[in-house]
Amino acid sequence: MPEVTDEVVVIVGAGQAGGRCALALRSEGFTGRITLIGSEPHPPYERPPLSKAVLKGAEGEAGLFLDPDGGWQGIDLRTGETVVALDCAGRRVITAAGERIAYDHLVLATGGRPRDLPVPGGEHARTLRSLDDSLALKARLTPGLRLAIIGGGVIGMEVAATATELGCAVTVIEAGARVMARILPPETSTWLAAKHAAAGVTVLTGIAVQEIREDSGGLAIHLRDSAGESRVVVADLVVSAIGILPASELVPAANRGPSGGILTDSAGRVPGLAGVFAAGDVAESWNPHLGREQRLETWRNADRQPRAIARSITGEATEHAELPWMWSDQLGHNIQVVGLWAEGARTVARGEGGEMLFWLDDDGAVAGGVLLDRGRERRFLEKLVEGKVRADPAKLADSAIPLKALV
Ligand SMILES: Cc1cc2nc3c(=O)[nH]c(=O)nc-3n(C[C@H](O)[C@H](O)[C@H](O)COP(=O)(O)OP(=O)(O)OC[C@H]3O[C@@H](n4cnc5c(N)ncnc54)[C@H](O)[C@@H]3O)c2cc1C
Repeated sequence: MPEVTDEVVVIVGAGQAGGRCALALRSEGFTGRITLIGSEPHPPYERPPLSKAVLKGAEGEAGLFLDPDGGWQGIDLRTGETVVALDCAGRRVITAAGERIAYDHLVLATGGRPRDLPVPGGEHARTLRSLDDSLALKARLTPGLRLAIIGGGVIGMEVAATATELGCAVTVIEAGARVMARILPPETSTWLAAKHAAAGVTVLTGIAVQEIREDSGGLAIHLRDSAGESRVVVADLVVSAIGILPASELVPAANRGPSGGILTDSAGRVPGLAGVFAAGDVAESWNPHLGREQRLETWRNADRQPRAIARSITGEATEHAELPWMWSDQLGHNIQVVGLWAEGARTVARGEGGEMLFWLDDDGAVAGGVLLDRGRERRFLEKLVEGKVRADPAKLADSAIPLKALV
């Protein structure tokens, strides 16, 4: 195991990716100084349960933390501190308190922040990103509460599922034509919207928020659809879940990609900034599977990319080739998505209830798929996607043929 004793690694962002990078540096044998700086008051934790078990009250917060015993292996963990600027030429980060901290290697793991709802009264909407957000929201989710969720993406739909299970009267307001449209093929969106409707969620699509006004009956959300028809939904609580913006403001604009993330090569290095890496949701990294730079807002990317960076810092440059994978748990169903959905792609369904749905690229190769309560098949689906396998659509659709046999 390599031993590096006198170097300093500074990690900005003590979320999942930052915390994982610090721990991975130690397990890779890095014995130098590691300073991990995060704005939140908590040590690094994982966010997926914040919209699921933690929000529901089924799981406490203790299980979220990356280093459960809290020892942090001699890592200088600074919570409640924010880095406000970088001096890349002098290899220093500058904190809000004015401290200048020198580094040999810098890892930017600053994640993202919820987008503001850009309408009058948008400030009445809450967002869900942090543990504190989740605990505050949980305290409000009592039976009978009228909850309006703006945005039918993964976070919005998970909050809708959890809140409806807690007895809230939930309305989802989605401006696009269907829910989770960025991630799911139309067939699965339709299936999911029907599950929510059956559970009592009102799912409104193709309708945009114009304004939120406080009135005596609650918060009046003024909506308009594409035909110009207006309507008002009144709620006690509004949650906005319209995506995040990467927290990439520390690097120059030239280092940011089309989605606003920090551009990196496949080893997580930021070209042109010596000793600087970026990881997790903020990183717009060259992805060898996709053949382009891509930002991935997934747990697995925030777990694996920092490990590769830790190996690059302690040893040889290590490429990270993340095959996109995410999951969501809603209304007793587990949804897993491998690959990135491409609007208009040809789909092939397997199973009567569409338990598996694949999509193909222009060459007929399996480019991705959705598994509904079929998580055990994921490794085979990943192999099909990784190998860009041109499986016969008739065989893909035939549930009598194990997926394994097509790999
Ligand atoms: C509610 C919720 C549910 C999710 N569910 C799933 C799921 O089911 N499946 C899945 O695959 N993924 C899920 N995700 C996504 C997954 O949690 C993220 O991809 C992951 O948290 C990204 O980790 P990160 O470390 O890059 O960013 P973050 O976890 O956002 O951490 C970044 C940290 O950096 C801090 N920071 C930012 N700027 C500075 C600065 N200048 N100085 C100091 N600190 C700074 C922030 O305060 C934050 O603590 C979910 C996310 C959320 C919010």
